[in-house]
Amino acid sequence: MWYIVSIIFGAIVGSFLNVCILRLPKEESIVWPGSHCPQCKTPIQFYDNIPLVSYMLLKGRCRHCHCVISFQYPLIEGITALTSLILFMKFGPSLSYLFYFLFVAALIVVTVIDLYHQIIPDVISLPGIGVGLLASLILPQLTFLDSLKGLILGGGSLFVVATLYQWLFKREGMGGGDVKLLAMIGAFLGWKAVILTVLLGSLIGSIIGISIMILKGKDFKYAIPFGPFLSLGAVIALFYGPSLINWYLYLNR
Ligand SMILES: [Zn+2]
Repeated sequence: MWYIVSIIFGAIVGSFLNVCILRLPKEESIVWPGSHCPQCKTPIQFYDNIPLVSYMLLKGRCRHCHCVISFQYPLIEGITALTSLILFMKFGPSLSYLFYFLFVAALIVVTVIDLYHQIIPDVISLPGIGVGLLASLILPQLTFLDSLKGLILGGGSLFVVATLYQWLFKREGMGGGDVKLLAMIGAFLGWKAVILTVLLGSLIGSIIGISIMILKGKDFKYAIPFGPFLSLGAVIALFYGPSLINWYLYLNR
């Protein structure tokens, strides 16, 4: 029963994340006005705005102008619902569940916005740093010192790399957005997991980046955003961090 509630809660939050993804890059209000069709601008009624369900009932089209509604909406709702269920199964009905769900929800928004716009909004990462630090005072998984070390190590290490890169190559390789994002990840997960996040994010990012270069030819010049890979690394660190760190220590005994 509670599992179903966590799925429904996740889908509703996912619906809100879609609004954030659409409006935060345009610096629009995320609460007003209500949702409307991007094509015919008709406001969407509450009965057509039920996460996942409405998309299926309307077969992915606007009720009024029948334009195709992006598959991204149900996709984000589905991913968020699944995230909520998995975290609920891991942490049960607890504050830990709520904090980590908020954390992953923020990473979902960051990932999609960074993919489309190559920016990471400060309105997510900066309050996220504060929430992570505060959460460490309550959460049993994390101490305040661990969270603070994670913040400094995460933000600090990328800041040094970004500054060195800019000084050496006279152009910006990594944005300040990535620095603030990794500081937020460090504040939520602690210093060990933030190291793991950077390692995993760089590894996955390099594999994908090299694959794209091979597929598209070496004159491929698009900057590949780092935020989605850091986010993916952070999610892996959240779920498998302790086992990965133990495995590493075991190998190096
Ligand atoms: Zn329409």
